[in-house]
Formats: sequence, C-alpha cells, structure tokens
Amino acid sequence: MNYQQEKDIALEIVTEAAQLCQRVQQNQAGQAIKKADTSPVTVADFGAQAVLCQGLAKAFPDDPVIGEEDATLLEKPELQTVRTQIIDQVKQSLPTATPEQVINWINWGNGSVGERYWTLDPIDGTKGFIRGNQYAVALALVEAGEIKLGILACPAFPRQNGKKGVIFLAIRGQGAVEMPLEGGQPQSIRVDASSEFPQLYRIESIESIHSDRQVQTAIDQRLGLQYAAKQMDSLAKYGAIARGEAHFYTRVPLAQFEGKKENIWDHAPGVIIVEEAGGKVTDLNGQPLDFSLGAKLSNNCGVLASNGVIHEQVLAAIKQEY
Ligand code: AMP
Ligand code: MG
Repeated sequence: MNYQQEKDIALEIVTEAAQLCQRVQQNQAGQAIKKADTSPVTVADFGAQAVLCQGLAKAFPDDPVIGEEDATLLEKPELQTVRTQIIDQVKQSLPTATPEQVINWINWGNGSVGERYWTLDPIDGTKGFIRGNQYAVALALVEAGEIKLGILACPAFPRQNGKKGVIFLAIRGQGAVEMPLEGGQPQSIRVDASSEFPQLYRIESIESIHSDRQVQTAIDQRLGLQYAAKQMDSLAKYGAIARGEAHFYTRVPLAQFEGKKENIWDHAPGVIIVEEAGGKVTDLNGQPLDFSLGAKLSNNCGVLASNGVIHEQVLAAIKQEY
C-alpha cells in the first residue's frame, strides 16, 4: 500500500488549516480563551480542527479521528462571539459551510482509537502560536498501532532561503521529506548522525513546566554536551531532529505531570518523521511508544527522540539521572 490518496488529502487539508491559522494570527493575534484545564485555545485551534475533520470525514468516512479540540466549550453564552469568529474563518476556507456543519466537523474529532484511525492536533504549541513562535498543524494515520503517515505544517519554521513555512511529511517505508508550505518540490531529509557528544545539540520545550529541565540538564552533563539545549515549541522539535538541526529531544515528565501521560496527537506525526529520516523514538525506558491504547500514551513514560546512533547512550544516561 503506498498511501497516495491519504497523502494527497493530508497535504491538502493541513495546508488549508495552516493558512487559516496564519489568517487568524494576522487578524486577531493573542486572543485566547481558557479550557477547563486552563490551557489556552484560540479561534484558529477550532477553525483548523473543523477544516481538517471536514476533509477527513469526506475522504475517509469510516476512519475515526481523535483530535485535541471539542466544541462543547463553545456552547457557553459568553463565547458566542468566538463561535461566530470560528464559523467566519472556516467559511473563508470552505465557503458553503453552515454554522451547524462547522460545529459537527469540530466534534468529528471526538472519535476513539480503532484498528485504523487518524489523530490530529489543529495547533500544537498554541502558546507558541500566541507568542509568534513555532507551532504545528499535526496529523497522523495509525493502523494496527503502527504510524503509517505523519505530516506537520509549521508556518514559522525557517527555510534555507530565509523564508518561513515548512511541511514535514513521512510515509512508512518511503522516507521523510520537507517542502515549502506554499507548495513546491519535496526534498529528502535525514538526521545528522554525529555521535561526538561535545558537538551535539539536545532540544526541549520552551515551556519550563512541560518537561523536567533539572533532570535534562543533568543528562547533558553526564553525556558531556558543551552547548546549552535548543528550545522550541510544538512538534516542530521532531522536524528539527529529522532535518539534523538537533540530535536528540528529551521529554522527561515533571513530578506533577506523572500519571497524566502524553497525548497521542502531540507525538505521532513527529515520531514517524524522525524514524523515516533515519532516527529513533522510544520512551525514557527504551520502550516503543504505544499508539494502540487510546488518546494517551498510557503505557509509556516520557519521550526520547534521537538521530538513532546515540540512542542507547542517551538512554543509559537517562537511567542514571531519572
Ligand atoms: P511543547 O510545545 O513541547 O511544550 O508541547 C506542547 C504540548 O504539551 C501541548 O500540546 C500539551 O498537550 C502538552 N502539555 C501540557 N502540559 C504539559 C505538562 N505539564 N507536561 C508535558 N506536556 C504538557
Ligand atoms: Mg498539542
């Protein structure tokens, strides 16, 4: 199976969703509402989820979709304006959309993990999006627990020519590529297979509460890293590893996060992109991430993504420090 139809649809919808995010960013940057867990969400998160789910529901009506957002929040009377803004934004992408359809598309993302499913995060790194830093429109296809396709649209990701906006795409067995967000030739990408720790870069979240910096720095010292870790919001970190701009990404859970577990949509597309670029991804115990269980990586602890060559050595250092 070459996943040609899945690839064409995925490319089309993440590009459309990323354009919606860019429009919102230009018009109403910084406006966020708070979810029940106090994390921020914007018009763009909901709008992009509607666009992504509309495309998936139309092309693959039998595939469940597990997305981050849910439209229940928008029933609150005080969020009527936000609801209207979301509908207006989606109409710019899908002109015939009705308000009811927009809400139904957002809620199409409330599916459950099955034999074959899609998982998506309409904006991963919403905090980065609000700050004008990195964020990613993220989508992956999983079959029998194995990620088959992963795609990330990263509108703020730098390109060689000084412009911004990259799409990372990987299909199992077909390698990983990047291409300009506005369209163009795909270029193969590979991890940087260096293994001289003093010259290597680790990458981590910008948000200090999303991973344990103290433990991560201790790991760096044990490995003899010379440079301070790079920091980046969102799944774009996996793109940086896949393109050789960093050599490993650690997500060591903070004590207060223990038991909460990572979301499948925060990792699935990035994992296959790194793997197909020649790297390796496991949890902190060296176990493969298990995408067959539900919306959470409930059988795993943290994440280590690397160029592959150094993976075992980093795991050994993690074992000493965590
Ligand atoms: P990042 O951009 O790497 O900081 O990752 C953003 C993702 O972190 C969000 O999509 C959240 O699902 C997730 N997240 C939120 N709180 C935490 C936490 N305390 N620990 C780990 N991840 C978190
Ligand atoms: Mg996310």
